[in-house]
Amino acid sequence: MIISWFRQNQREFGTTLAAWLLWRVAWRRARVLAANRLLPANRECPCCGWTGRRFLDYIEVGYTARNIACPRCDSHSRHRALFLWLKDTYKLSEKKGTALIVAPERSLAPLWSAAPNLRIYKTDFEPNRGVDVLADVMHLPFASNTIDLVWCHHVLEQVEDDSLAMREFCRVLNSSAAELVISAGLSGQPGTREFGFSNKKLSGNRRAYGEADFEARLAAAGFEVTAVTHDLSVDDCRKYGINPETFFRCRKRD
Ligand SMILES: [Zn+2]
Repeated sequence: MIISWFRQNQREFGTTLAAWLLWRVAWRRARVLAANRLLPANRECPCCGWTGRRFLDYIEVGYTARNIACPRCDSHSRHRALFLWLKDTYKLSEKKGTALIVAPERSLAPLWSAAPNLRIYKTDFEPNRGVDVLADVMHLPFASNTIDLVWCHHVLEQVEDDSLAMREFCRVLNSSAAELVISAGLSGQPGTREFGFSNKKLSGNRRAYGEADFEARLAAAGFEVTAVTHDLSVDDCRKYGINPETFFRCRKRD
């Protein structure tokens, strides 16, 4: 895994930058693992049950975030927050119907497996991610009005025509009771900044969404949109390594 990660960085940024990145990741990882061996645990991952002193740092070219990734399941803050929301608030295990999971997150897999009455289609456009349906979100291979839940997080910022993908989500949803649960990386600015290309230095993103604008785009695609913030205490946020971010529950407008 680390070799393919290095080779991908080598292809995109050259050998010197890829080697520097590898050294930085190895050094930071060694420090965190030492802290986890020597110091008492005060962090916990709700997705896999790992406990320790620090999460791993997340390092890309031009970007470093400290104390982010679970050493066991690689969950990040938003995965852990969504895991708790799906389990405790949404009551996923009690849901029935059909769910479409776009770009499924590995750390949430145990939750989806524990929903026995939910028929689940995992979809992605890359074949090596263990999905059920190879598909582009701009052209979903599902009939209209057939899906009860679409789950899509931090995907649309990488999609060429995000408005088309939103309309596709609206088309496949079954009724006004069905819903799209979605989030994206929001810049904190009011408006969306379009790059016009896939920016390799920003995880391949094609745009940086403004918070109000992302919600407005969902509404323009045919949704009633409700913004949701996680209801977690300060102590839980610290314990689970969560920096709460807004996500959106969207139902088809009648
Ligand atoms: Zn974990």
